[in-house]
Amino acid sequence: MLDIISSLGNNKPKLLLHVCCGPCFTIPYEYLKDHFKITLYFNNSNIYPYEEYKRRLDELKRYCFEINADIDIVIKPYDNEKYMEDILPLKDIKEGGTRCFLCYEKRLSDAYKFAYDNNFDFVSSVMSISRYKNADKINEIGYKYQNIYPSVKWLYADFKKENGYEKSKEIILKHHMYFQHYCGCSISYDEYLKKEKNEK
Ligand code: SF4
Repeated sequence: MLDIISSLGNNKPKLLLHVCCGPCFTIPYEYLKDHFKITLYFNNSNIYPYEEYKRRLDELKRYCFEINADIDIVIKPYDNEKYMEDILPLKDIKEGGTRCFLCYEKRLSDAYKFAYDNNFDFVSSVMSISRYKNADKINEIGYKYQNIYPSVKWLYADFKKENGYEKSKEIILKHHMYFQHYCGCSISYDEYLKKEKNEK
Protein backbone atom coordinates (compact mmCIF):
# COMPACT_ATOMS: atom_id res chain seq x y z
CA MET A 1 0.00 0.00 0.00
CA LEU A 2 2.79 2.43 0.87
CA ASP A 3 4.41 1.86 -2.56
CA ILE A 4 1.16 2.77 -4.30
CA ILE A 5 0.66 5.82 -2.09
CA SER A 6 4.18 7.09 -2.72
CA SER A 7 3.65 6.74 -6.50
CA LEU A 8 0.58 9.02 -6.45
CA GLY A 9 2.38 12.36 -6.13
CA ASN A 10 -0.12 15.18 -5.72
CA ASN A 11 -2.94 13.29 -7.39
CA LYS A 12 -5.88 12.17 -5.30
CA PRO A 13 -7.39 9.19 -7.13
CA LYS A 14 -10.95 8.04 -6.51
CA LEU A 15 -11.05 5.20 -4.00
CA LEU A 16 -14.14 3.10 -3.26
CA LEU A 17 -13.61 1.81 0.26
CA HIS A 18 -15.76 -1.09 1.39
CA VAL A 19 -16.66 -0.49 5.02
CA CYS A 20 -18.45 -2.82 7.43
CA CYS A 21 -18.79 -0.61 10.54
CA GLY A 22 -17.50 2.53 12.28
CA PRO A 23 -14.82 0.88 14.47
CA CYS A 24 -13.15 -0.84 11.50
CA PHE A 25 -13.18 2.43 9.53
CA THR A 26 -11.21 4.48 12.09
CA ILE A 27 -7.56 3.66 11.35
CA PRO A 28 -7.94 2.95 7.60
CA TYR A 29 -9.37 6.46 7.20
CA GLU A 30 -6.40 7.96 9.05
CA TYR A 31 -4.00 6.21 6.64
CA LEU A 32 -5.91 6.99 3.45
CA LYS A 33 -7.58 10.37 3.87
CA ASP A 34 -4.67 12.51 2.64
CA HIS A 35 -4.03 10.40 -0.44
CA PHE A 36 -7.41 9.52 -1.93
CA LYS A 37 -10.82 11.01 -2.66
CA ILE A 38 -12.72 8.42 -0.67
CA THR A 39 -16.27 7.15 -1.12
CA LEU A 40 -17.50 4.58 1.37
CA TYR A 41 -19.43 1.56 0.18
CA PHE A 42 -21.68 -0.01 2.81
CA ASN A 43 -23.00 -3.27 1.35
CA ASN A 44 -23.35 -5.49 4.38
CA SER A 45 -26.53 -7.52 4.05
CA ASN A 46 -24.71 -10.25 5.96
CA ILE A 47 -25.46 -8.41 9.22
CA TYR A 48 -28.31 -9.85 11.31
CA PRO A 49 -30.72 -8.75 12.69
CA TYR A 50 -31.70 -5.56 10.87
CA GLU A 51 -31.47 -3.51 14.11
CA GLU A 52 -27.80 -4.49 14.37
CA TYR A 53 -27.21 -3.55 10.72
CA LYS A 54 -28.82 -0.17 11.34
CA ARG A 55 -26.83 0.38 14.54
CA ARG A 56 -23.51 -0.29 12.79
CA LEU A 57 -24.44 2.00 9.91
CA ASP A 58 -25.61 4.77 12.24
CA GLU A 59 -22.37 4.57 14.25
CA LEU A 60 -20.39 4.89 11.04
CA LYS A 61 -22.38 7.97 10.03
CA ARG A 62 -22.05 9.49 13.51
CA TYR A 63 -18.28 8.99 13.51
CA CYS A 64 -17.92 10.54 10.02
CA PHE A 65 -19.92 13.52 11.24
CA GLU A 66 -17.90 13.87 14.47
CA ILE A 67 -14.56 13.91 12.67
CA ASN A 68 -15.87 16.11 9.88
CA ALA A 69 -14.90 13.56 7.24
CA ASP A 70 -15.13 14.82 3.68
CA ILE A 71 -16.78 11.66 2.46
CA ASP A 72 -19.81 10.22 0.67
CA ILE A 73 -21.41 6.96 1.79
CA VAL A 74 -23.10 4.72 -0.77
CA ILE A 75 -25.53 2.35 0.97
CA LYS A 76 -26.64 -0.78 -0.81
CA PRO A 77 -30.23 -1.84 0.06
CA TYR A 78 -30.40 -4.41 2.86
CA ASP A 79 -31.49 -7.93 1.84
CA ASN A 80 -30.29 -10.43 4.44
CA GLU A 81 -32.50 -13.27 3.22
CA LYS A 82 -31.10 -13.22 -0.29
CA TYR A 83 -27.55 -12.64 0.93
CA MET A 84 -27.65 -15.71 3.16
CA GLU A 85 -29.00 -18.12 0.52
CA ASP A 86 -25.53 -19.45 -0.32
CA ILE A 87 -23.94 -18.76 3.09
CA LEU A 88 -26.39 -20.71 5.28
CA PRO A 89 -25.64 -24.09 3.66
CA LEU A 90 -22.06 -23.56 4.94
CA LYS A 91 -23.17 -22.88 8.52
CA ASP A 92 -21.26 -25.84 9.98
CA ILE A 93 -17.94 -24.53 8.71
CA LYS A 94 -16.05 -22.76 11.49
CA GLU A 95 -15.84 -18.97 11.46
CA GLY A 96 -12.75 -17.85 9.57
CA GLY A 97 -12.97 -20.65 6.98
CA THR A 98 -14.50 -21.06 3.52
CA ARG A 99 -17.91 -19.74 4.62
CA CYS A 100 -16.30 -16.43 5.53
CA PHE A 101 -14.18 -16.37 2.37
CA LEU A 102 -17.40 -16.58 0.35
CA CYS A 103 -18.83 -13.79 2.48
CA TYR A 104 -15.82 -11.55 1.80
CA GLU A 105 -16.06 -12.30 -1.91
CA LYS A 106 -19.76 -11.53 -2.18
CA ARG A 107 -19.22 -8.05 -0.76
CA LEU A 108 -15.94 -7.34 -2.54
CA SER A 109 -17.16 -8.49 -5.96
CA ASP A 110 -20.19 -6.25 -5.60
CA ALA A 111 -18.00 -3.32 -4.54
CA TYR A 112 -15.70 -3.92 -7.48
CA LYS A 113 -18.61 -3.92 -9.95
CA PHE A 114 -19.88 -0.65 -8.48
CA ALA A 115 -16.40 0.87 -8.70
CA TYR A 116 -16.06 -0.19 -12.33
CA ASP A 117 -19.51 1.14 -13.30
CA ASN A 118 -18.74 4.46 -11.62
CA ASN A 119 -15.19 5.04 -12.85
CA PHE A 120 -13.29 4.64 -9.62
CA ASP A 121 -9.49 4.29 -9.77
CA PHE A 122 -9.08 2.00 -6.75
CA VAL A 123 -11.04 -0.38 -4.52
CA SER A 124 -10.11 -1.53 -1.03
CA SER A 125 -11.74 -2.74 2.17
CA VAL A 126 -11.32 -1.93 5.85
CA MET A 127 -12.00 -5.55 6.84
CA SER A 128 -8.32 -6.46 7.18
CA ILE A 129 -8.12 -4.46 10.42
CA SER A 130 -10.04 -7.17 12.24
CA ARG A 131 -8.00 -9.81 14.06
CA TYR A 132 -10.63 -12.33 12.96
CA LYS A 133 -10.42 -11.59 9.24
CA ASN A 134 -7.90 -13.19 6.90
CA ALA A 135 -6.08 -10.29 5.24
CA ASP A 136 -4.30 -12.57 2.74
CA LYS A 137 -7.63 -13.91 1.53
CA ILE A 138 -9.16 -10.44 1.31
CA ASN A 139 -6.24 -9.24 -0.82
CA GLU A 140 -6.29 -12.40 -2.94
CA ILE A 141 -9.96 -11.75 -3.75
CA GLY A 142 -9.20 -8.10 -4.46
CA TYR A 143 -6.53 -9.04 -7.02
CA LYS A 144 -8.87 -11.58 -8.60
CA TYR A 145 -11.39 -8.79 -9.31
CA GLN A 146 -8.64 -6.44 -10.48
CA ASN A 147 -8.01 -9.00 -13.23
CA ILE A 148 -11.70 -8.99 -14.14
CA TYR A 149 -11.98 -5.15 -14.06
CA PRO A 150 -8.42 -4.05 -15.02
CA SER A 151 -9.27 -0.33 -15.12
CA VAL A 152 -9.87 -0.41 -11.33
CA LYS A 153 -6.85 -1.24 -9.20
CA TRP A 154 -6.99 -3.15 -5.94
CA LEU A 155 -5.36 -1.24 -3.10
CA TYR A 156 -3.54 -3.87 -1.05
CA ALA A 157 -4.01 -3.40 2.69
CA ASP A 158 -3.52 -5.12 6.01
CA PHE A 159 -4.68 -2.45 8.43
CA LYS A 160 -4.04 -4.54 11.51
CA LYS A 161 -0.28 -4.22 10.92
CA GLU A 162 1.69 -1.66 12.97
CA ASN A 163 -0.79 -2.10 15.84
CA GLY A 164 -3.68 -0.89 13.69
CA TYR A 165 -6.20 -2.83 15.73
CA GLU A 166 -4.90 -1.48 19.07
CA LYS A 167 -4.83 2.08 17.71
CA SER A 168 -8.42 1.73 16.53
CA LYS A 169 -9.44 0.71 20.06
CA GLU A 170 -8.17 4.05 21.38
CA ILE A 171 -10.32 5.97 18.88
CA ILE A 172 -13.34 3.77 19.65
CA LEU A 173 -13.02 4.59 23.36
CA LYS A 174 -12.49 8.28 22.72
CA HIS A 175 -15.63 8.53 20.58
CA HIS A 176 -17.70 6.15 22.75
CA MET A 177 -18.41 4.05 19.71
CA TYR A 178 -20.56 0.96 19.76
CA PHE A 179 -18.30 -2.06 19.28
CA GLN A 180 -20.13 -5.17 18.14
CA HIS A 181 -19.90 -8.51 19.95
CA TYR A 182 -20.03 -10.76 16.91
CA CYS A 183 -18.95 -10.69 13.28
CA GLY A 184 -22.30 -10.13 11.61
CA CYS A 185 -24.35 -12.98 10.16
CA SER A 186 -27.05 -14.97 11.95
CA ILE A 187 -24.61 -17.89 12.34
CA SER A 188 -22.10 -15.74 14.22
CA TYR A 189 -24.98 -14.15 16.17
CA ASP A 190 -26.24 -17.57 17.33
CA GLU A 191 -22.70 -18.55 18.36
CA TYR A 192 -22.38 -15.33 20.35
CA LEU A 193 -25.71 -15.95 22.13
CA LYS A 194 -24.69 -19.53 22.94
CA LYS A 195 -21.37 -18.33 24.39
CA GLU A 196 -23.11 -15.67 26.49
CA LYS A 197 -25.52 -18.29 27.87
CA ASN A 198 -22.69 -20.69 28.76
CA GLU A 199 -20.78 -17.96 30.57
CA LYS A 200 -23.74 -17.16 32.87
S1 SF4 B 1 -18.87 -14.90 10.42
FE1 SF4 B 1 -18.65 -12.87 9.47
S2 SF4 B 1 -17.37 -13.15 7.63
FE2 SF4 B 1 -18.11 -15.17 8.32
S3 SF4 B 1 -19.97 -15.53 7.13
FE3 SF4 B 1 -20.62 -14.60 9.05
S4 SF4 B 1 -20.66 -12.39 8.65
FE4 SF4 B 1 -19.52 -13.34 7.00
